[in-house]
Amino acid sequence: MNYEPLFLEPEFKDYIWGGKKLKDIFKKNVKNEECTAESWEISTNKNGESVVKNGKYAGKTLTEVFDDKNLRKDIFGTKCIELNEFPLLVKFIDANNSLSVQVHPDNEYAMKNENSLGKCEMWYILDCDYGAQIICGVKPGVSKETLNKYINSDKIAEYLNYIDVKKGDSIYIPSGTIHALLGKTLVAEVQQNSNITYRVYDWGRVGKDEKPRELHINKALEVINLERSSQIKNIPNNIEKVNVVKSEFFTTNKINVLDEFKENISDESFIAFSLVEGKGNLKINDNVYEIKKGDSFIIPACSKQYELKGTMELLQSYI
Ligand code: ZN
Repeated sequence: MNYEPLFLEPEFKDYIWGGKKLKDIFKKNVKNEECTAESWEISTNKNGESVVKNGKYAGKTLTEVFDDKNLRKDIFGTKCIELNEFPLLVKFIDANNSLSVQVHPDNEYAMKNENSLGKCEMWYILDCDYGAQIICGVKPGVSKETLNKYINSDKIAEYLNYIDVKKGDSIYIPSGTIHALLGKTLVAEVQQNSNITYRVYDWGRVGKDEKPRELHINKALEVINLERSSQIKNIPNNIEKVNVVKSEFFTTNKINVLDEFKENISDESFIAFSLVEGKGNLKINDNVYEIKKGDSFIIPACSKQYELKGTMELLQSYI
């Protein structure tokens, strides 16, 4: 049995720190033209599900396709058969302004306290202004005592670890790591399928209702792990296939197609793609699909092989 790739329509989020780049750069059909923060490209998360655009399952949510047990092995792969939910969430994020400083729980804490998966995430910097930074972890030597003392005040900002970033950089943020995307960065994020965020600090600003957004200091202190740290990795775009992250939860590679790229795939996992630069064709089971910057799609695990032609850069993720 052959299955078509699933091209997906995202769910958009207009959080207060968003901008116009998802419309301007990715030509996304956003709902809020002035401020769109995230597009949930490949998602079965109940807070925003993507919808299939093509083929037999057009109009169905990705959740509905995943929940159809008859399709599970062929489309999502043998590793997904026993899963209760689709394991990944892939987003584009336009951080026009800084996000709150936050931390996510691991699977164990999240299952116990939130009945959800925990969240490890990976950021790939698609674009950013000169001098752009992110926050990952705390400055060297900052103790749990210092953190406890200042976490509820503006002073916390002085103890965080700021890292310079440029286009093509990536960083893996394990659960328990305090972090924030700061302003003027456009990012592709691959993460576990979870929306559990404990907000630590929100730069003294107010939400859409003019009130400060809720903080979750106590839960954050329970899950922050100061031992965790992470390094920036710059991903070259002159190599055909480069590993970006390999974690116990997912693997992400960057694929740079200069003319054509062909690959066999295993039946263990679906392959989730986001096309971040350029355009071309996807060939699969003798069918050819035009693909362009901003497209996200899933190649079924049973496909055996796929072929890309054109000039483009893609993020490829699987479990
Ligand atoms: Zn986060």
